[in-house]
Parts: sequence; C-alpha cells; structure tokens
Amino acid sequence: MKKIIILICIINLNMNLAMAQDLQQDSFSTSKGELVINFVKHASLFFEFDGKIIHIDPVARMGNYEIYPDADLIIITHHHGDHLDLNAIEQIKKENTKIIFTEKCKELSENISDFIVIKIGDVLTINGLEIEAIPAYNIENKRPNGHPFHPKGEGNAYILTFGDKRVLIGGDTENTPEIKSLKNIDIAFLPMNLPYTMTIEMVVDAAKAFRPKVLYPYHYGDTDTSTLVELLKAENDIEVRIKKM
Ligand code: ZN
Ligand code: ZN
Repeated sequence: MKKIIILICIINLNMNLAMAQDLQQDSFSTSKGELVINFVKHASLFFEFDGKIIHIDPVARMGNYEIYPDADLIIITHHHGDHLDLNAIEQIKKENTKIIFTEKCKELSENISDFIVIKIGDVLTINGLEIEAIPAYNIENKRPNGHPFHPKGEGNAYILTFGDKRVLIGGDTENTPEIKSLKNIDIAFLPMNLPYTMTIEMVVDAAKAFRPKVLYPYHYGDTDTSTLVELLKAENDIEVRIKKM
C-alpha cells in the first residue's frame, strides 16, 4: 500500500512539473527512439533523448530552471550572458553532469569543474551523443569599433547526432560558408536578430543552401518571423516551424 501511495505521489509530482513548465515541445522519431525538444526562450532549450536530458545554453532569466529536469549534459555555444549563465548551470547540474564549454567560457567559470573544452573541428561522443563543433561568427555585423560581435574562433555552432537525426544548433552566427556547406541536417536552429546575428535574408540564404528538413528560427527577439515563413514558402523540402523563442 505504501508503495502504491508513493507511486501515485511521484506520478502527481511529474504531472505538476510538466504543467508548471508550460513549455512548447516538439518530438521526432529517430533510429534510437524519440527525441523531444523543449523550447525555453531565446537560445535556451533542452532535449530529452535515450533517457538523458541535454540542455543548450541554459540562462536563468529565460525560463524556470528550478523546475526543469537536471542535466546529464550541458552544451554552451559561447560566453555571452544570453548563452552562458553560471546560475542556471548550478541549478541543473548534478553529480555526473558533463559540460561542454568554449575556451572563453572556461576563463569565465572559475567555480565550475567537470567541463570539457571543445574546439572548432572537434568531434566528441558523450553519453552516446555525437557532438561536432563548427565556427559561429559574424562576417557583416560589427561593433562601432569595427570588430565583429562574434569573431571567428570564439563561439561554436554544434551538430548533434541523435540516432539517425542530425541537429544544428547555430549559436550566434551568420550565414557563413561553414554553415552553408552543411549536409544532411534534419533539424536546424538559426539565430535571427540584429545587430548580433542574422537578418531574415541571411537565414533564408543559409536555409536555401544547406536545406534543413525542419528549420526553427530562434534567438529572434522582435524580428518578424512571418516574413521568414513567406520567403521560404516555395521551398517544399524545408519546413519552417515557429516557436516562442
Ligand atoms: Zn553572442
Ligand atoms: Zn546571443
């Protein structure tokens, strides 16, 4: 009897958590089971796959990390405050959580241990998940002093392989040659806000080049996503999905 009561309590708790999260979700079937994407906000999201939770760029002000599930893996694209937030990391980190950092993230994270620095071109397999780092950077959009908001070499985009599905996390990038030459991307997250990342036209240009099957614009601030949908309407092999990001 006691067991049954405890079980009912756990089920209730889980349901409450799901409701309290109030997150938009999508799910995809892969050769290794279901991949669930939870959309938090801006550049923050998390995946559920193969019994593991993988958080991308968790930032406390974008969601409620006290109630989101703890991370088996945390992947950070770069060190800017809307991507790297040590408070959010502390909230979802557990004993065996692995953290993927860039070199700059490492420099800013004295109190965090157990991280792995990944460099452009590296391919790692962690918890059975393949992670490839490619550069994320600006070509056109620059600060008043002429320096790009994101110089090449500082920040990463990632290709994550979930079973037979390849997912691109764009980070803060433009439509670079490295992005445009990608192949076999099933799901792509591309940033779309000025002045830091891409114009709508840059996102269209990138999408038409590497043709992801599903495209989620993210990190889009006040950018009008309906224009993106309109501009890609004729591309029948690219499905644009809009989530509140
Ligand atoms: Zn940035
Ligand atoms: Zn950003």
